[in-house]
Amino acid sequence: MTSSSDVIEDAPQAPGQPIDAAAASATLGGEKKRSIEQIALLIFIIVPFLALLAAVPLAWGWGVSWLDLGLLVFFYYLGCHGITIGFHRHFTHGSFKAKRPLKIALAIAGSMAVEGPLVRWVADHRKHHKFSDAEGDPHSPWRFGETLPALMKGLWWAHIGWMFDEEQTPQEKYAPDLIKDKTLRAISRQFVLWTVVSLALPPLIGGLVTMSWWGAFTGFFWGSLVRVALLHHVTWSINSICHAVGKRPFKSRDRSGNVWWLAVLSCGESWHNLHHADPTSARHGVMRGQLDSSARLIRWFEMAGWAYDVRWPSRSRIDSRRTTGEGGSRRGKEPVEAA
Ligand SMILES: [Zn+2]
Ligand SMILES: [Zn+2]
Repeated sequence: MTSSSDVIEDAPQAPGQPIDAAAASATLGGEKKRSIEQIALLIFIIVPFLALLAAVPLAWGWGVSWLDLGLLVFFYYLGCHGITIGFHRHFTHGSFKAKRPLKIALAIAGSMAVEGPLVRWVADHRKHHKFSDAEGDPHSPWRFGETLPALMKGLWWAHIGWMFDEEQTPQEKYAPDLIKDKTLRAISRQFVLWTVVSLALPPLIGGLVTMSWWGAFTGFFWGSLVRVALLHHVTWSINSICHAVGKRPFKSRDRSGNVWWLAVLSCGESWHNLHHADPTSARHGVMRGQLDSSARLIRWFEMAGWAYDVRWPSRSRIDSRRTTGEGGSRRGKEPVEAA
């Protein structure tokens, strides 16, 4: 299904009624990050990252149990799809509508990815689309210029550095629709709670299944720390790598690219060039063989009746967004439209 408004240039404004002050600070810390939050953020980035670095040599020594591996994979994809289907395609871009229980489940699953509170995530991402790779984009790798050293610095910025920027995206301006929803606002504010749940479940399961403290410990190491680190880096790679390299078969006014080798780990989000060319499309991997597990799950949700009004991209809509260059030559037997 296609719709007239295909790009969220600006978030929908709350009609008429101003948002009350309590509602406006929808996330902890409001518009400016406090230093305590900066420190917490640093810990949440550094500790899992160190765990990831330690993972390979430790795996050699301990061996990894199937249970630990299962916890890692399960919680990885739970959080990943919470972000991609929930925070990104549903809450940020409205690429489908969700029945209430699915909406709540997606908000919680996305919060368990430990990537910041829902409302802040959505506000930052809408701003990213509004200014993509131009001044105002919260995380463009081209921020410092186009020379190699500038790009290196920019990649670091787009990957991690931007999160420590004191200046925050105004949530009232970019996410008034979410702030108006009491439950979503509460889930966003309970970010610390969902982080604890996300980190505590793997060791709890690991400990109970093996009935040992060691099982709880390795469950925590693999299912919590290594999992969060891996998911963080994959998500941030969409901001850094997918705005620096990759094929660009579709028209977009930024440097977004399709990066095939991140498709499985990023749950289909690394087809990022198509996403910037058609932000509300429920499917990002639109070409043959482009894996997009998020789109597959949205389809299943639609079949179950939990998701509706899904914006599936039609063939003509996809073709209208192709560049006339190399991407355009892959139309196969489709009639070539006037370029
Ligand atoms: Zn982007
Ligand atoms: Zn987006």
